[in-house]
Amino acid sequence: MRLTCWGAAGEVTGSMHLLEVGPKRILLDCGLFQGRREEARKKNENFPLDVHDIDAVILSHAHIDHTGRLPLLIKKGYAGPIFCTSATRDLCSVMLPDSGFIQEKDFEFLHKRGQNHLAEPLYTAADATRVVDSMMSLPYDRPLDVTPGIRLTYTDAGHMLGSASVVLDLDAAGAQRRLVFSGDVGRWGLPIIRDPKPPRGLADVLIVESTYANKVHESVREAQGLLANYVNKVAKRGGKIFIPAFAIERAQELIYELHSLARDNAIPKIPIYVDSPLAVNATDVFRLHPEAFDVSERLVRETDDLFRFPMVKYVRSVDQSKGLNTLRGPLIVIAASGMAESGRILHHLRNGIGDSRNLVLIVGFQASYTLGYRLQEGAKEVRIYGEMVPCRAEVATIGGYSGHADRNELRQWVQGLEQTPKRAFTVHGETEQLQAMAGLLRDLGVKQVDVPSLGQPFEI
Ligand SMILES: [Zn+2]
Repeated sequence: MRLTCWGAAGEVTGSMHLLEVGPKRILLDCGLFQGRREEARKKNENFPLDVHDIDAVILSHAHIDHTGRLPLLIKKGYAGPIFCTSATRDLCSVMLPDSGFIQEKDFEFLHKRGQNHLAEPLYTAADATRVVDSMMSLPYDRPLDVTPGIRLTYTDAGHMLGSASVVLDLDAAGAQRRLVFSGDVGRWGLPIIRDPKPPRGLADVLIVESTYANKVHESVREAQGLLANYVNKVAKRGGKIFIPAFAIERAQELIYELHSLARDNAIPKIPIYVDSPLAVNATDVFRLHPEAFDVSERLVRETDDLFRFPMVKYVRSVDQSKGLNTLRGPLIVIAASGMAESGRILHHLRNGIGDSRNLVLIVGFQASYTLGYRLQEGAKEVRIYGEMVPCRAEVATIGGYSGHADRNELRQWVQGLEQTPKRAFTVHGETEQLQAMAGLLRDLGVKQVDVPSLGQPFEI
């Protein structure tokens, strides 16, 4: 048996691992590389495998950096099954066409500038729609033979709706191995979704994410307190709160948290505008999957609908979105993109960051080349749509809503396996975090730990 990491190796995005079990070839995830435009584009264009050799794809969760090369796979002629949970399939049915639309826009943009070396987009929204036809969904904790000799079981990874860790019981010519792929590990106590459930038992091989292996977040409870304080403070001064948020999961968690705080009278009932068609569509998918919710949460038990309540308004059209600029505060706008690099958040920021009553609230990871990062670092002036805009608004960060386990939670997750894995690979992290995760695993007694580089094969 052999493992080769073709993405999320030495970096966070592009998650894709090839597993060869005798003659069978299985892909774990098929994610898009994200980041600096040129660099990411090149990596995505050069698909390293012949898709006709692949027997099955197994997804951990719906995030684009884990699924965003699936339309390319289908476009290249892949005809096999794609296994995932049912919530992942439904989220993919809105997220992948959105990603296709972005690819089409990107292609047009380059074409206008005369910089296009490709004859067509990486893939289109129509290509992306076809992916869902090949998806086969599987509930948590119910083993399924993907092909003879490869048995798949999902456990809840607690990272986003439908997210899973992958357990594979492998048998090739009498050699048996149990491989565990963590997927992205969530946090204990995140709103809406259930806590991570590490798959118990001895793993011969563990592939584990490392995003925050060297960081410690504030607790989810502390995050809620901070959120309430900021909303109260800005409401009192009549300001607007702009929250750049990933359309999936983070946006729904914030809606849920604000709903919960308002019900407890911990914040005033000011309007919340969710200004992202993708977030609106994703919220509909959340509504379809109450089976994935944490039933011990009070709001889940007490309300018929977590996401529809008088304070919240969903904005689809561009005209409505622009109309928000003319409204007076206090109000809250949640809009994509999460790092304020594109999307509707840009026009809200251009219109609003000059006013010192307003607040830009950062709730997710900001890569160092993004507008979100520059605001977070306290820039006095930033470029938006090619114009310099002075920033007089307050900018604050709440780290506790991260969807990724921190160092302590990653340790808790590995200990939750209950037996020390024989061997481990650290993926899905920047160099410092990958090394920190490798160190953490060695401290926990794992004898053989590797930090794979892209395309490096390992016999397992
Ligand atoms: Zn993820």
